[in-house]
This record gives sequence, structure tokens and C-alpha cells, in this order.
Amino acid sequence: MSDTPEDAAFYKTLLESTHAIPWKIDWETMTFAYIGPQIEKLLGWSTDSWISANDWAERMHPEDRDWVVNFCISQSKEGVDHEADYRALCADGSYLWIRDVVHVVRNDEGAVESLVGFMFDISERKKIEDKLVTLQQELEELSFKDGLTGVANRRMLDSVLDKEWSDARRNSQPLSVIIFDIDYFKQYNDHFGHIQGDDCLRLVAKTLSQGATRHRDFFARYGGEEFMLILPDTDKAAAAKVAERCRELIFKQQLPHPSSATGPVVTVSQGVGTITPKPTDSPKTFIQSVDKSLYQAKQSGRNKIMTG
Ligand code: GH3
Ligand code: MG
Ligand code: MG
Repeated sequence: MSDTPEDAAFYKTLLESTHAIPWKIDWETMTFAYIGPQIEKLLGWSTDSWISANDWAERMHPEDRDWVVNFCISQSKEGVDHEADYRALCADGSYLWIRDVVHVVRNDEGAVESLVGFMFDISERKKIEDKLVTLQQELEELSFKDGLTGVANRRMLDSVLDKEWSDARRNSQPLSVIIFDIDYFKQYNDHFGHIQGDDCLRLVAKTLSQGATRHRDFFARYGGEEFMLILPDTDKAAAAKVAERCRELIFKQQLPHPSSATGPVVTVSQGVGTITPKPTDSPKTFIQSVDKSLYQAKQSGRNKIMTG
């Protein structure tokens, strides 16, 4: 079947009426043999301003240019069809996301003769992808953050504890943990109401989180009115200092608590534990022992720090 002039006109109309922009580059001279007139409407550059492959490369975002050009050249040299997404420069200085789909045409001897392809406007799709990434980040934040206090939640705490536990075991380093529990918090709620109780929790969380001073120190809400501080590479003496500092930080807030038996302000009890984990130890048993220390702090009058 041979093409008549009418066929050629038909193909041309077909190509130039689609949203995808067809083009052809002669491989030997690296010049445009053709580019669809739709390009002018999309990017603002006139059809006859597309002369060489350089024009294509130069009208690309500088951050995309190197990898896209190198990738397309190497694929073309190997005769492999390919596609690339990049930001194309518009005549007004803005950028538009383009997907370029390239087919490598070879002659009878198998040598590359030309490249033909289509440019697709994928800016809408990119916008949706960007939005999805943002939503995903928000979702992750929501599921690792405690909704009330904004500090890390129990889920995050468990995974950080697991990680720090294995690191401490591998490096034979001491790992310290402090569990905080607000004293007579039930009475606080009874006295001021739950709404103010929530405010108090937020403030206590914010205050205690300042106990995390080193890069890997990690603070989280452990449960209702209980919080935890994980202190990697921290020995018993250093952990005791952090605990005392936390006690002072809370005391400085001077949050009124008229129905507390420890005094007129909000206080916390603390259980502190330090371990250099051996293969036979488990995080669960360790946390239970820190919890036991916390219980002893409560038993011995509250507003106390008890080390196991
Ligand atoms: P103790 O000194 O022995 O720790 O006494 P406590 O009253 O603090 O301890 P208890 O475990 O008896 O009560 C804890 C209280 O914390 C009861 C519960 O209503 C309150 N609580 C837990 N989570 C929240 C919360 O998200 N908001 C508020 N407002 N209160 C909470
Ligand atoms: Mg409690
Ligand atoms: Mg309590």
C-alpha cells in the first residue's frame, strides 16, 4: 500500500489536531525535521524557533536538564525507545511538566536515523501527584503524632524504642528510659473539668519534651497522663540529671493544682531505668521494671524520682 497525497494530508491533520505534540529529530544533524504547531499554544515558542536539539535542551528546567539530556542521548545511541518527564520552559518564563515519549527509528543497516516522539502536557497529573505526596505526609504525621498534645504517639514510641534497643545492644551502649506520670491527675480533672485537664496535659507534654536535648533523645505520650523519654547512649548518672531537670521544668510552670496532696501545684512522679541490653533481655521486661520504679515513686509520696 502506498501513500497518496491525500493520505499524507490526512495524517498531518490527524497529528496536528491531537493534544500530544509530535516531533522528529534528524539524528545526524541533531536538528528538528518537524514539530507540531500545537507547541506554540502550549509553551509559547513559535514552531520555527525549534531548530536544533539544543533548543530543546535549553528550554528545560536546569535541575532536569542534565539527567534528561544524558538519559535520552544514551538511550537513543543504544536504539532504545524511552520516555522522560521534565519541566519545559515556556516563553513567559514559567515551567510546564512534559512527558516526552521517544521512538528511535533505524535505517536498514540498523543505524539510528531519526528520533520521533510525542510531548504530552502532564502538568495536571503532576499537580495531583504533588498533592498526593503532601496528603501522604500529613497522614503520616497524623498517625505518628498524638492528637491531643502534638508529641509523638504510642505507635511511634514503640518503633523508636525497638530501634534504639537494637542499636544499644549492637553497640553495647547504655539506654535509659524515663516514665512520667502526673500526680493526682484524676483530682485535677475533677476539680477543673476535662477541658482544662486537656490543656494541662498539653502544657506538661510541652514542658517535659524539653527534657529531650540530644539529637536522638525522644519524647512521646505513653498513655493517658503518662509520658516517656528515651535517652540513647545515656548512663544512669546522666539519666538521673535529665529526670531532675524535668522535675524542675514542671515545678517552674507553677500550674495550680488545689486538690493535690503533694502541694499546691502540678507535679509528676518518675521511674528511671538504664540498661545495656544483652541478647536475653527484652524491651518489654525492661519497661516493666521502669514502671515498677514509677510505682515506687508514687508509693513513697509522689513528686519523686525513683531509679531501678
Ligand atoms: P496518681 O498520682 O496515682 O498517678 O493518680 P492519678 O489520679 O493521676 O492517676 P489515675 O490513673 O487514677 O488517673 C489518671 C487520670 O488521667 C484519669 C483520667 O481521666 C485522666 N486522663 C487520662 N487521659 C486523659 C486525657 O486525655 N484528658 C484528660 N483531661 N484526662 C485524662
Ligand atoms: Mg497513670
Ligand atoms: Mg497519674
